[in-house]
Amino acid sequence: MAAPELTFACTCGTVRGALVGASATEGTRAECFCADCRASEIYARQPDPAPNGVQLFQAMPDQVRFDAGHEQLAVFSLSEKGLLRWQAKCCGAIMFFTMRSPKIPFASIRTDRLTDPDALGPVIARAFVRKPNGKIGHDRLGTFIYRFASRAVSRRISGKWKNTPFFDAETLKPVADIYVLSKDERKAATAA
Ligand SMILES: [Zn+2]
Ligand SMILES: [Zn+2]
Repeated sequence: MAAPELTFACTCGTVRGALVGASATEGTRAECFCADCRASEIYARQPDPAPNGVQLFQAMPDQVRFDAGHEQLAVFSLSEKGLLRWQAKCCGAIMFFTMRSPKIPFASIRTDRLTDPDALGPVIARAFVRKPNGKIGHDRLGTFIYRFASRAVSRRISGKWKNTPFFDAETLKPVADIYVLSKDERKAATAA
């Protein structure tokens, strides 16, 4: 049986592709309430997700296939060492998050970009949630990390980590130049 595929697209439809092997057991559906995820959406002039978090599905880079618009990808980061946030230049939609090196293989896709996110089952982990007592906490983050770590290790052993549309296979550099936000841009995006 062929691995199930879920198609994804940016808002305007120029950047399109599929998440291969898309099922609740091949990734983790999560919602992140951290300030950086929200600031990234605001910087990219996307709708403010608050009070909700940013929903994502943490998959592996070899599960991501671009069918069109790969050259439209731009990448930015909120800080020198921060997560890479991959955006479609055409409409600004934020589509994927990755680490700065392909050696730590993961590619989280914003579930808003998927045609049928519910095929991935319910959200099972929540990060940086404000609890009723006002404190920030996490729900089932341990499950999230454990599931990621076991998948990442298998990719390292099999060599599949090299199979990524986000990095050059030879140089291991990102396929687009990373834009790091200036202090002012970061401030403007977090002041909201
Ligand atoms: Zn976040
Ligand atoms: Zn677009």
